[in-house]
Amino acid sequence: MNDGGAAGGQPPARALAQVFHRLIANTGPISLAHFMAESNARYYNTRDPLGTNGDFVTAPEISQMFGELIGLWLADMWIRSGRDEPVHYVELGPGRGTLAHDALGAVGRYGLTPRVHFVETSTALKAVQLDLHPGAQWHHDLSTLPDNGPLLVVANEFLDALPVRQLVRTPAGWRERMVGLERGGLALVAGDRPMDAAVPPAMQALDLPDGAIIETSPAAAAIVYELAGRLAAQGGAALIIDYGQAHSRLGSTLQAVREHRKVDPFSTPGEADLTAHVDFAALAAIAQSRSARWLGTVEQGRWLRALGIEARAETLCRAAPEHTAAILAGRDRLIGEGQMGALFKVMGLAGPNWPDGAGF
Ligand code: SAH
Repeated sequence: MNDGGAAGGQPPARALAQVFHRLIANTGPISLAHFMAESNARYYNTRDPLGTNGDFVTAPEISQMFGELIGLWLADMWIRSGRDEPVHYVELGPGRGTLAHDALGAVGRYGLTPRVHFVETSTALKAVQLDLHPGAQWHHDLSTLPDNGPLLVVANEFLDALPVRQLVRTPAGWRERMVGLERGGLALVAGDRPMDAAVPPAMQALDLPDGAIIETSPAAAAIVYELAGRLAAQGGAALIIDYGQAHSRLGSTLQAVREHRKVDPFSTPGEADLTAHVDFAALAAIAQSRSARWLGTVEQGRWLRALGIEARAETLCRAAPEHTAAILAGRDRLIGEGQMGALFKVMGLAGPNWPDGAGF
């Protein structure tokens, strides 16, 4: 595995765990959000984690139908909104570029040939994306995206990788959850600064018991705030797809996955994918506060069925009968209740004068 430096003749990057140990020993516990941001930055920057030989598999890597139906949805929105040009396809965290490949192929059949913009921070994944999309433009964050026309935005399994902050109720009041050192290892500890002022009044009123946890993602909130502001100003539509709940809930959803198995998030920082569930209700409220339209948040299985995944699967099977088993297995994985169909949600956003979205 690439360790982020050895190949270039530089010394290998020091294990991130050691860096955290030294930092915490010198300056005290760090916030969970800091830990998660640094861990995932190292993790994604140094590898392509996708696929059966990697750590996890995402929907576009399961079946081409996923990206195709997303493309269909975007083209439909663009056509019904009046076909404004220039129009930009924007993908946040495009992974291997597979979703963009399938979606752009589909939109091309409807006369839509958008400019392509990728928001990506990983050096390793940028190289993979460049192979499939030599004409794309890369951005480190949303601030440099064009402001001259509607944005057709896709983010699949992107927001779940952004850092979360957790507050925990203790006998002494609310505290931030921090990562400290305990018995020689990294472990969660309660911070010593009072954080009661950071707890929303509605949550204060609930008088939650000791040990209760409130999890938020300021980074996801900031991205949706910016995105919604642009949809309101420039027009466009966005699909945000991730695992999470349509309604806000209490408790920690932090998890780490390595080689397709859940692992302790603190045992090998920078070597496992850290994620948290996306709070779609909170993000919908932020988008609406910026005058963007919230089109709805629905289960992925329901949305893909509404977009016609069953008919698409049949067409693909007829065209390549020898692949029937694989095509149907991919369909079932994407829409099955016990698989991705119910846990994953699709949220649609759009500019104020844009139409309702199919499937919501
Ligand atoms: N959307 C792809 C990949 C999901 S993995 C798919 O469905 O297969 C998460 C993606 O987000 C990776 O491309 C990762 O490099 C990128 N990413 C993670 N944190 C990021 C950040 N803070 N800014 C930009 N991209 C980020």
